[in-house]
Amino acid sequence: MNAINPHIFREYDIRGVAGKDLTESLVFDLGRIFASRLRKELSLVTPPRVAVGRDGRLSSPQLAEKLAAGLAQGGALVDDVGLVPSPGLYFAMHHFKADAGIMITGSHNPPDYNGMKMVKTSRPVYGDQIQELKQALMAEAFEDHPGGAIHKADILDFYLQRLIVDFKPGRRVKVVLDCGNGASGVIAPQLLEKLPGIEGEVLFAEVDGRFPNHHPDPTLPENLHQLRQRMQETGAEIGIAYDGDGDRIGALDHQGKIVWGDRMMILFARQILATRPGATIIGDAKCSQVMFDAIAQAGGNPLMWKTGHSLIKTKMKETGAPLAGEMSGHLFFADRYLGFDDALYATVRLLEIIAQSPATLAERLSDLPEVHATPELRIDCPDEKKFQVMARILQGERDKGSDFSDVDGVRVRCDGGWWLLRVSNTQPALVARVEANTLERLHEIAQEVAALLKPEGVFLPNWE
Ligand SMILES: [Zn+2]
Repeated sequence: MNAINPHIFREYDIRGVAGKDLTESLVFDLGRIFASRLRKELSLVTPPRVAVGRDGRLSSPQLAEKLAAGLAQGGALVDDVGLVPSPGLYFAMHHFKADAGIMITGSHNPPDYNGMKMVKTSRPVYGDQIQELKQALMAEAFEDHPGGAIHKADILDFYLQRLIVDFKPGRRVKVVLDCGNGASGVIAPQLLEKLPGIEGEVLFAEVDGRFPNHHPDPTLPENLHQLRQRMQETGAEIGIAYDGDGDRIGALDHQGKIVWGDRMMILFARQILATRPGATIIGDAKCSQVMFDAIAQAGGNPLMWKTGHSLIKTKMKETGAPLAGEMSGHLFFADRYLGFDDALYATVRLLEIIAQSPATLAERLSDLPEVHATPELRIDCPDEKKFQVMARILQGERDKGSDFSDVDGVRVRCDGGWWLLRVSNTQPALVARVEANTLERLHEIAQEVAALLKPEGVFLPNWE
């Protein structure tokens, strides 16, 4: 076996350059190990069932094929659902009552990257579990089992039916969707056709792993230009964009302004809380204070939690939360839906909310206080140092008696705003974000954060 790059085994997934770090033989061996471990873990009499899907990257078909073959050799029954968005794979797990699912996807990373997102119904796959897979792979601890097989299955019709099953039609709404040549393109046009009263068009639905039109990451404003322009040309009142594997949503209002994940959450929370008063609604530590306050005002129980789909899903189960979301556009509905992050389903819910009222998206959020925020600021800090820096800053806030949350890094509430500092899971960096009631306070708070970092020898970048 070739040398394994240990850095591809990350907190929430496995990710690397296809053909270099993530080779066909490595993916095959991971499949064997995953299946045999799953067998043991579940102590099943019959072979475990694993759904496999893939995104539209050029390297994905070969990697998915090898993964399926490896899983079968390790003794799993594989439901290979082919090219689907990540939520389509999660839906397939539900549909086939699979014990686990693996998606070959590079999400929003550059075209030459690819990766594996793994989900088990018994417990989420992240952190130590991924490290254990790495160890087993390095030790070549393979155990093959009989009974494995691969079954190719088409899931898209079932998935589409589930997405639209209880959509409540209302007034006419004109929308533009932008798939960015990502995997959502296999279903977004059909979805748009099936929703009564919703009309519009879909940009870049042709799945193309080279991403020739723009990069499929709706959190970067430069990727929303074409959507904004097409909305203007067609008079659409809302624009919706997806990331490469369709688990994150981005939106533009009728003025072409970005509606971030936490703003969308407010709309969804208000709708859900109307019938489920007191429900817990979860947002990650990057979300605006405006969101947490709006959830409380609407009669909900706002809960701040850690970023990461495995962690969020676990917390949702634990608290019975009907809704959770991340600033980045991962939105999880357990209300009328299955509890995973699905940008296509979020689309259905968003369009339903807009169709139910004469007001536009912007009007429905116009009662919220205006705040100013920095984007997510990446602060270079070596891996061997970042945790100590973080620990000292957290201790400092504790000593000062600050009003803070340490649920994910440290988020400190201060006069007229808050700041967040956390360790990057993926890079030698800290990540910061500041929000304030006024632009002036924003700068002041940012300077306070910079002053905390300076003695540590790390520096807040300029964001303007
Ligand atoms: Zn994604």
